[in-house]
Amino acid sequence: MLEGSIRKPQRYLGNEWNVIKKSHISRIRMCLCYPDLYEIGMSNLGLRIIYSLLNSFEDVVCERAFMPGEDFYLYLRQRKIKLFSLETKTALSDFEVVGFNFDYELNFTNFLSMLNAAGIELRSKDRNDLIVLGGGVANPESLWEFVDVFFLGEFEEKAASFVNVLRRYKDKNARLKALSEIDGFYVPSFYNVYKKGQEYIFEKKYRYAKLPIRKVYVRNLNNSFYPTEWLTPYTSIAHDRAQIEIARGCPNRCFFCQARAMYFPYRERSPFRIIDLADNIYKNSGYENISLLALSASNYSNIESLVSDLADYCSKKTIGLSLPSLRIEDVVDRLHKYLFRIKKVSATFAVEAATERLRNAINKKIDIKKLMEAAKILKSLYSRHIKLYFMYGLPSETDDDIIAIKSFLRELTRVSRLKVNLSVNIFIPKPFSYFENVLINDNEELERKRRLILYSIPRNRSIKASIASPYKSILESAISRADRGFSSLLYEAYMLGARFDAYRECFNKDVWNEALKRAGFNLNEYLSESTDNFPWSHIHII
Ligand code: SF4
Repeated sequence: MLEGSIRKPQRYLGNEWNVIKKSHISRIRMCLCYPDLYEIGMSNLGLRIIYSLLNSFEDVVCERAFMPGEDFYLYLRQRKIKLFSLETKTALSDFEVVGFNFDYELNFTNFLSMLNAAGIELRSKDRNDLIVLGGGVANPESLWEFVDVFFLGEFEEKAASFVNVLRRYKDKNARLKALSEIDGFYVPSFYNVYKKGQEYIFEKKYRYAKLPIRKVYVRNLNNSFYPTEWLTPYTSIAHDRAQIEIARGCPNRCFFCQARAMYFPYRERSPFRIIDLADNIYKNSGYENISLLALSASNYSNIESLVSDLADYCSKKTIGLSLPSLRIEDVVDRLHKYLFRIKKVSATFAVEAATERLRNAINKKIDIKKLMEAAKILKSLYSRHIKLYFMYGLPSETDDDIIAIKSFLRELTRVSRLKVNLSVNIFIPKPFSYFENVLINDNEELERKRRLILYSIPRNRSIKASIASPYKSILESAISRADRGFSSLLYEAYMLGARFDAYRECFNKDVWNEALKRAGFNLNEYLSESTDNFPWSHIHII
């Protein structure tokens, strides 16, 4: 079916090593969808866990679908072929449940594109039997018209309850009612939400639905499901290594951080279980790189002995070990002796702000002297690059904080001689973070600060910088903080052709400006409130 003009056709073949193929006969049929390209979606640990977990039920078949690239999207449309699952090439519209991951707001128009490409009605009220399930989202309100039921939290904990409901009820409304009675499931059509003055009021329409809706989390990581038959793609993907999650949550408390709240509380997997997983995944997949995953890996209480044991294991098998999200102090004080034994060391440090005053204001604890030492150690380990994250538009930020980036980078490149990949993002006051009721800077102020950053980055070939654009970040902020009214804006933007908004080369500001005009929206309205009552106040995550 594929012609030579389709880029990366491996994205659509689906015959990967360890793929699960089951007959659909007498089974509950589900498809997990990721609203971004295959190589991004296949790097998502949550998708891999849920795919294998749902397939572990004998009477369930779970397949996968990803957002097609623009060329394949048009190919399907021109030939009137419905978007299909990778495993059996079944149209998404022929499943009982299609589940979407909504972990990034700028993928929401891709979600609508996927529904449409699959011949599925966009709005839940227009659909018959098929259930659209959404997960991974902090504030689901902008999607309320399109999604039948959201799951808030960690799906492993309620997967069995979910399957039981599907086994027991065949009618869609009965299924939704039963799900809404279980913690973590949120059926938006069972609630009235309206504004009284500045307050959002939430009322149940179905008396047994939960209110507030509580996020669900896995109590014990050691007992929770983890895939060992690691799906191994035939094309390179964003994180092309076997990932082993060593901890979930984060014990630190950076005030801008949403992930900490979303994955609260902090939990660890035991070293014994981690090594067992590493061994099984290696044997089943043949992957030559293992990566330890956690929001802040070096907070893991046995990190030193774990890295030592894994470094032994990996050097025996001649496989690489990567340790993202290390704290600078740990590279310098505790772990550098092990890093020498690891095949390839790469380092990413989130500095966030160049002055100590501003780092204190956002509660980001970093010792800059140690960072300089860590950079020297990395150089001695034959690393060539260091990746640094900064933010601008932070609360209480002054021009001096921004200009300080210059001296920081000069010093770092001087002492380490490393090349620097610098990523400067815009602070977005995300729901559930400590800064959720802080204002984002307006477009003009962010544009001014962006110019100041450009001026502050030393003209030096060893520094490569990417600086977030204000318009896109303000849009992301508005979607992340949106109330139900926002779904009409998403719909307009999608109808006008918005797709792949997360990609610089695809993002079209004119499309969004036109959508704002048609939907009668002013983005600033979504950014200007400083209150304790939010569109997401009916959701309790802690
Ligand atoms: S930014 Fe990183 S270290 Fe800080 S709270 Fe969030 S996950 Fe933890």
